[in-house]
Amino acid sequence: MKPEHHRLYRPSVLKEVLEAHGFSFTKSLGQNFLIDGNIINKIVRGAEITKEDNVLEIGTGIGTLTEELALRGKKVLAFEIDKGLEPILKDTLQDFSNIHIVFEDILKAEVKDIVTKEFGEEPFKVVANLPYYVTTPILGKLLEEDLNISSITVMVQKEVGQRMVAKPGSKDYGSLSVFIQFFTNPSIITKVPKTVFLPKPKVDSIVLRMDVKEPIIGIEKDKFFRIVKAAFSKRRKTIINALSTYGLPVDKREIRHALETSNIHEGRRGEELTVDEFIVLSINFPNIGT
Ligand code: SAM
Repeated sequence: MKPEHHRLYRPSVLKEVLEAHGFSFTKSLGQNFLIDGNIINKIVRGAEITKEDNVLEIGTGIGTLTEELALRGKKVLAFEIDKGLEPILKDTLQDFSNIHIVFEDILKAEVKDIVTKEFGEEPFKVVANLPYYVTTPILGKLLEEDLNISSITVMVQKEVGQRMVAKPGSKDYGSLSVFIQFFTNPSIITKVPKTVFLPKPKVDSIVLRMDVKEPIIGIEKDKFFRIVKAAFSKRRKTIINALSTYGLPVDKREIRHALETSNIHEGRRGEELTVDEFIVLSINFPNIGT
C-alpha cells in the first residue's frame, strides 16, 4: 500500500495503515496521533520551515508531521521510542530520502552526537507533537545540552504551555516559566482542541514556538536555578524569607545585601520577579557551591 502524500492525517487512512500492520496505540507512550491537516499546517507554518532548514522531530507516530516537515524542509532527523512503528514508517515514508529515524528514547539517546552526525555544525529547528508524559524532561534535555537549536515549535498540554509563557505576577508563573524564558522567548501559535487526535486525549493542547536566546555570558546556571527554586518554594513568603529559609548555604545578611545590590526590594515575592531580575540576583548572589 502506498498512501498519497498529505493524506496520512486522514482518520480513514490512519486507521487503514494501523490495521494493515496490526498496530495498537500505547497510551503510556503518549500516542495520540494527529488527524487534522490544518493543525499540521499551522505547526509547520508557525515553525517557518523552509528548504534551508534542518529539523529535529521527537515522536513520529506514523509519520504524519514528519512527512510535511520533509516536504518543506531540508533534512529531518527524528526520534521514535516505539520500534513497533518501524514497519509502518518504512511504508508511509518510503518516498523520502531526507528523513532519518532513530528508534530510541530521546531521553536516553546521545542526542548531541547523533545530531552532529546528521547536521554537522549547522543550526536546526525542533518541531514535534510531544508525548505529554515527558514534555518537561525532553525540553530540559534539549535546552541544557548546548545544542545548536534556533527554535522549538511543539504541541504541549494546554496548562503546561500556559505555564511556560506566563508572565511575572500571574497565577501560572513559576519555575517552569523561568526555566523556559531563561533559554527562549516563547509565544503561542494556536490553541488545539482534543478532537484533532486519535485516540482523543483527555486534555486540551496548545502549540508553542520558543525562539532560543543567545546564551548569557558569565552566569552560573546551577546557581541561577537553585535560587529560582528557592524563590518559588514558599509562594506566599517575601523573597528574603523564601531565600533565607530554603536551606541555601548563605546567611540572611548576605542575601539582603545581594537583593539590595540587584535593586530588588526584599519585601517582594518570588513570583513577581522577572527572569532578568533573577539573572541579576544570581550574578550578585554569594557563591553557594554545588
Ligand atoms: N508526530 C505524531 C503525530 O503527530 O501524529 C505522533 C505524536 S504522539 C503525541 C507522540 C509520539 O512520541 C508517539 O509516537 C510516541 O511513541 C513517541 N514517544 C513517546 N515517548 C518517547 C520518547 N521518550 N522518545 C521518543 N519518542 C517518544
